[in-house]
Amino acid sequence: MSFDTLGLAPELLRAVNAQGYTTPSPIQAQAIPLVLAGRDLLAGAQTGTGKTAAFVLPMLQRLMIDNNRAGPGERRPRALILTPTRELAAQVHQSLRDYGSHLRPRSTAIFGGVGIQPQIQALRRGLDFIVATPGRLIDHMQQKTVDLSNIQVLVLDEGDRMLDMGFLPAMRKILAALPRQNRQTLLFSATFSDPIRELAGQFMRDPAQVQVSQRNSIATTVSHRVHPVDVSRKRELLLELLSHDSRRQTLVFGRTKHGCDKLARFLEQHGLHCAVIHGNKSQGARTRALADFKGGRATVMVATDIAARGLDIDQLPAVINFDLPMVAEDYVHRIGRTGRAGAEGQAISLVAPEESRLLRDIERMLGRSIDVEPVLGFEPSQPLAAARPAGRAPGRAPGNAPGRGAGRGGAGRPSDRDGAAPGGRRNAARPTRQRNGRSADSGQVGTGAAAAGRDGGQHAPRHADAHNRPRRSRRRPQGSATS
Ligand code: AMP
Repeated sequence: MSFDTLGLAPELLRAVNAQGYTTPSPIQAQAIPLVLAGRDLLAGAQTGTGKTAAFVLPMLQRLMIDNNRAGPGERRPRALILTPTRELAAQVHQSLRDYGSHLRPRSTAIFGGVGIQPQIQALRRGLDFIVATPGRLIDHMQQKTVDLSNIQVLVLDEGDRMLDMGFLPAMRKILAALPRQNRQTLLFSATFSDPIRELAGQFMRDPAQVQVSQRNSIATTVSHRVHPVDVSRKRELLLELLSHDSRRQTLVFGRTKHGCDKLARFLEQHGLHCAVIHGNKSQGARTRALADFKGGRATVMVATDIAARGLDIDQLPAVINFDLPMVAEDYVHRIGRTGRAGAEGQAISLVAPEESRLLRDIERMLGRSIDVEPVLGFEPSQPLAAARPAGRAPGRAPGNAPGRGAGRGGAGRPSDRDGAAPGGRRNAARPTRQRNGRSADSGQVGTGAAAAGRDGGQHAPRHADAHNRPRRSRRRPQGSATS
């Protein structure tokens, strides 16, 4: 399929062409015709699917070509795009400029952390599109510096995340200030929880629904693995992993802002160039950090979940969870940054024994287990707790599972999970067999369908072995074989 078949105007096709896109992504192919037809839309799509163009392109066409009633004297904005974070607002605004380069929509991004005055001036001059985060938009509404009475298209981008971040009251306030008649509403969300559906039920009219990836799915080109390690040794292990390939761009997730700062300082002290992004950073610092990382001046970006949400970083080869997320679904959001658009990605989690429950939650959500590979010299003082009792993942028959662990009971057995008889220490050392263990390590999909294809559910013991063998640190003289 090509973009020409979607009904987009030549000005937009030229802009798409300039971006180098040749084929619409699945969400674009499905959503663009529906939005052009004026339908409300409930779209299940996460970052990395091309969702931004899926709403920006048809909005530009509807408002700047088909229905260009702005008129010279019309100052009131006609489209509002709400995003959960400042970074996402800036990115969506940039997309609007890129895709609208031949239509020249008047637009601005409105978010906190920067001066409000330039935003007020832009609003006074008159706009077609506003891209905003809810908090700052509410400030403008309270100061009566924004007029939302002519909004014809509303987009809620990453709706699930806006709810997670506690924006529901702000969203309701904003929705209440918009015209109801003739408004088109587009809701994009990675997941559809009950509150999201409720919101859609209240504010949308007979929405068309499209879904481009299964709920909570992850690109099949991502390989996942867990390195068990004591909390006290996580930093060292991280340094070890990052030192394996100091040119590789890696996004590292920490749980707290303070923890991210400390970690970045530690890595800097050890010669790595780091960018840090979290909610306490000023907008200027966040923008600089992102630019440093994207520009390759920093090879490591340490981030909290919220700050990293929606960051558009192409072809990121690796994401490392220094801390596991407290909410299992955040694992999916984090990992969404790697393995995009068919590129291979690695998702590595450093898991301390006390985080076993969080790992179990993640595995339960994914419906499969993640390979556990101790790194030689960094084995934890206790094994990780068993993933789940031997048995099957919901709805899967043993031997027919999507991943090695899901249904085979493999990761469910404590010995598979921890590499030791219950209560025993994991793999004190079986270095001689390490090379054979590459089957668990080298594949693209450590836990997914491809993995099931490889072992067909028949070779659990071999994989159990592979799980339990320690990887070696490259810094060790004997250890280059495994990475
Ligand atoms: P998004 O999901 O909107 O954050 O987009 C993810 C990335 O995919 C961005 O870097 C886009 O520039 C890129 N992208 C969007 N549409 C296409 C397409 N049709 N072909 C190739 N890349 C695309």
